[in-house]
Amino acid sequence: MGFLFVLSQAQRWIIERIKPGDIVVDATAGNGADTLFLAQLAGAEGKVYAFDIQSSAIENTRQRLNSVSETEGLAPVDLLHTSHENMASGIPVEHHGQISVIMFNLGYLPGASHDIITKSSTTLSALKTAVLLLRSGGLLTIVVYPGHEGGDQEANAVYAWASDISPSLAQTIVYRFPQKPTAPYLIALIKS
Ligand code: SAH
Repeated sequence: MGFLFVLSQAQRWIIERIKPGDIVVDATAGNGADTLFLAQLAGAEGKVYAFDIQSSAIENTRQRLNSVSETEGLAPVDLLHTSHENMASGIPVEHHGQISVIMFNLGYLPGASHDIITKSSTTLSALKTAVLLLRSGGLLTIVVYPGHEGGDQEANAVYAWASDISPSLAQTIVYRFPQKPTAPYLIALIKS
């Protein structure tokens, strides 16, 4: 078997770190696949906060969660129809510094307008907040998309940000297929 695709690798790292009862965040809910994944792992005692600026994404995520049986022990999910830049105000203060996993999947929502994409300035602002909200040992994963216009610049900006973080604050890593320079790649961070 070859190396895992980036989204699967992000999930693998998350599975290794998350525990039932954890507080977790999906910063780009999209169609809700990662929100559901996190809700299953955090379990009924856990909590998920999911952000998206598109009402269709929030609705798709709500439907995906509702389609799962209540007996399956999902974490309660707060769906927040706001930019992930507002993460700190959307999450109660008592959970700041307690979050174990935060996922970002950048770019546009498949099947929706390609005009609505994540943007470097808001993404970087949200990432800086995300690091503050993580607990010590918490994991941040970011899937970037250099293959579309704007996505390449955003990927470079996230890479530069991850390169400059003080090792005393966090350890960062890049998971990328160098033979496929336009393919999505994964940047992740573990808070010290
Ligand atoms: N590119 C991925 C899916 C990414 S979905 C793939 O191909 O599988 C990215 C989501 O981020 C979209 O639903 C979009 O509405 C959302 N988004 C864009 N800007 C945002 C922001 N500032 N805050 C929160 N969500 C945002």
